[in-house]
Amino acid sequence: MSRTIVLTGDRPTGRMHLGHYVGSLKNRFEMQDEFQCFFMIADYQALTTHRDRTEDLERHVREMVLDYLAAGFDPKKSVCFLQSQVPQLAELTMIFSNLVTLPRLLRNPTVKEEMGKMGLGNRVPYGFVGYPVSQAADILLFRPRYVPVGPDQRPHIELAQEVAARFNRIYGEVFPLPDGVYGTRLKGTDGQSKMGKSYDNAIDLSDKKASVRAKVMNMVTDPGRVRATDPGNPDVCSAFHYREVFDEENAEQVARACRSGSVGCTTCKGALADVLNDFMMPFRVRRKGFEEQPDLVRDILNLGGSRARIEGQRTLEHVKEVMGMGYKALMG
Ligand code: ATP
Ligand code: MG
Repeated sequence: MSRTIVLTGDRPTGRMHLGHYVGSLKNRFEMQDEFQCFFMIADYQALTTHRDRTEDLERHVREMVLDYLAAGFDPKKSVCFLQSQVPQLAELTMIFSNLVTLPRLLRNPTVKEEMGKMGLGNRVPYGFVGYPVSQAADILLFRPRYVPVGPDQRPHIELAQEVAARFNRIYGEVFPLPDGVYGTRLKGTDGQSKMGKSYDNAIDLSDKKASVRAKVMNMVTDPGRVRATDPGNPDVCSAFHYREVFDEENAEQVARACRSGSVGCTTCKGALADVLNDFMMPFRVRRKGFEEQPDLVRDILNLGGSRARIEGQRTLEHVKEVMGMGYKALMG
């Protein structure tokens, strides 16, 4: 039986947020009926920026599985596993690390942006610069057709495609070239170009109603608009971006009311908080039901780990064989 595979993952560095939902979760969970999906929690990749915060990992992993379930993950259809439970990923990373040059890695715009935000300069860890290689292994070990991710992942998907093509050319056809399925990039509540777990600018899927409201009320609107009746400019308003993503059908009308000065920012943000809270209500209800099942997360991860290892071992044996490293004559 040949199944079309989907693979994607997230780093357990904090709670899942609205950016994850529109960037990747929505697309990936919609694919579960049609394709065999694998969802990886990238705990080794978390170490590339969070090596000194390992005491938080276990809690983040548990919350992440609950966030997945709340957002539509169906454990009867799809596989969820921890990166560190699949040693074949580390082996494939080792093989791929010789297929990518250092200048190629340092040219990666997402890596550059993330390095800039970390302010590490030359003290950037080798593991951080190399994480796209390890991510290429995470993806290719499962030989997926589709990888549903946020737009910031485009350079990494392109690298995975390059690595796959190079491997196939040198050693033999093993890897189909995966395609990225890109969702929407969501800005942070502070107006920064990306909402991120590590940037303190996120609305979490598990946030309570009051917390969502407080975060929305704190968003910066048009700084040139002093009185509520002044005409405003929605193009420079952090809150308006969320209207475009989560309230598309009313966005034009909201923009008109802003430009004419007929609705003030406080009223407008109050209405946006209602929109977001309505959107998130089903997640809260589902999450509560899952939180009450004590063994659920453990069972999902244990079963997921064994399924991912089986899949991974199959690819790795094929890889070693085409590389002449199966050693059948010598050792078989
Ligand atoms: P961190 O800040 O710790 O890197 P993150 O919020 O960037 O966390 P990741 O685990 O790195 O989250 O990314 C998981 C997935 O979510 C990726 O597919 C990524 O492209 C997507 N994603 C993350 N942030 C956004 C966003 N603001 N808009 C759209 N997609 C996003
Ligand atoms: Mg990230």
